[in-house]
Amino acid sequence: MNDMVGRHCLDSHLHLQDPRLAAIRNDVLARAAAAGVARMFCNATAEADWAEVLGLASISAAVIPFVGIHPWHAGTASAGWEKRLTMILETSRCGIGEIGLDRKCPVAMERQEEIFSRQLQLATRLKRPLSLHCLGCWGRLREILEHQAKIAALPPTMIHSFSGSSEIMQRLVRLGCWLSFSAGLTDPKRERLRRVFVATPLHRILLETDAPDQLPFALKTAATPPLNEPANILALYREAAELRQIDLENFIHRIWNNGEIYADSLLPR
Ligand SMILES: [Zn+2]
Repeated sequence: MNDMVGRHCLDSHLHLQDPRLAAIRNDVLARAAAAGVARMFCNATAEADWAEVLGLASISAAVIPFVGIHPWHAGTASAGWEKRLTMILETSRCGIGEIGLDRKCPVAMERQEEIFSRQLQLATRLKRPLSLHCLGCWGRLREILEHQAKIAALPPTMIHSFSGSSEIMQRLVRLGCWLSFSAGLTDPKRERLRRVFVATPLHRILLETDAPDQLPFALKTAATPPLNEPANILALYREAAELRQIDLENFIHRIWNNGEIYADSLLPR
């Protein structure tokens, strides 16, 4: 990992507050810094972890906070959640994430859509970057975003761990969304995903670990711990730069710049 020193590398979606990282969090942050991962978009998933995400951002300038309610936790949103989220957004520099829609989630779709739509409205009104999760609901997500875009300019929007078709990619790019790719890209069997990645306009691409989940394919050996961490993003950058046939340094720099544009309102001047 020493060849990353001096580089500025972005991890565009992860969960440093995850309890699975609690005992090793300082080491994880130190290894990320040593690997050149100089910026991480850290996403909350439920009301219960908002304070922790904000706390991590207050102790590390590399951590950019996103607070929101993930579809899996849409059932846990308590009365007044929207007011509390609005207050945090109005008093701190943070984006909204991780939010979205998930067909495999036990929470009723109507409830998921309600929680998602309210957070989308909030991001639109406050012009905050959005980090979106979508599994099995591509058509519906596209409909909601296209509808919203007719009413008001969409806030900066990224789809995390993108796994949609080429057609969905094109529609989302037309809406001005960024597509964030994760370790699936490093799996040679994920041919469609790799093809879609290569076809995505370079200025719309972001890369993420989604740590502590989604360990890169090449790192999945019996000897490695099962948890993913931001320092591992180099494996993803290497594979992605090779797929695009772009020089690694140049590619890391381009993705960093994409992240600066996407999260512009959250970054220190
Ligand atoms: Zn995530």
